[in-house]
Amino acid sequence: MNPSAEWLKLQQEMRSQGFTDEQVLAAMESTPRHCFVPSRFRERAYENRPLPIACGQTISQPSVVAIMTQVLEVESHHKVLEVGTGSGYQAAILSRIARRVYTIERHQKLYLGAREAFRTLRLSNITAVHGDGTLGMKEQAPFDRIIVTAAAEDPPATVLEQLVVGGVMVLPVGQTDDIQRLIKLVMTDDGPHYEELNFVRFVPLVDGIPVSPSE
Ligand code: SAH
Repeated sequence: MNPSAEWLKLQQEMRSQGFTDEQVLAAMESTPRHCFVPSRFRERAYENRPLPIACGQTISQPSVVAIMTQVLEVESHHKVLEVGTGSGYQAAILSRIARRVYTIERHQKLYLGAREAFRTLRLSNITAVHGDGTLGMKEQAPFDRIIVTAAAEDPPATVLEQLVVGGVMVLPVGQTDDIQRLIKLVMTDDGPHYEELNFVRFVPLVDGIPVSPSE
């Protein structure tokens, strides 16, 4: 099957599960997932499952990317921060909708791989940074939208401070080695309001940058 036929099958599967946000589906359609998975998994790029990437991390399941993107309610004038670039797939999809996407990754190898994929696909409105995303990206703050694609027990406070009033943040929250809950957080004048969504499973959000590149 060629990638577009495989994509159509995946899209049908997601639609039958209730994903109907046309803007999100169009962003996913124009973003070839096989460009973000290691070559040995390329044949499986359009299965609705997470797949291993370098450094012991994972590229999220397409339906989880769809939910998170949908819940984030991204608009074309938005500046978005993603913590946990991983393969770069989620950032690439956000870049089809938002004005600008900043994405931060602690593993240098993943950061370099994602940057290369963005260049190949000519996604020029993404800025990839190698660093500790638990600190957010102060020099670019505030952000209209923030997505964290690694699990923490609580929303990281420094990142939360970088969200505008009226802004939305989506993240998995819970015991990091277990199942987590997807949370939608809306920042108001009175502080954050939380809404609990699906159960998900993400790799943990880890403080700091690995000392050795192979870590
Ligand atoms: N959004 C990714 C999914 C990546 S998995 C994708 O579309 O492929 C989560 C990623 O978060 C991993 O690559 C992990 O290394 C990264 N991560 C974990 N803690 C981090 C931190 N403190 N700062 C930046 N990245 C972090």
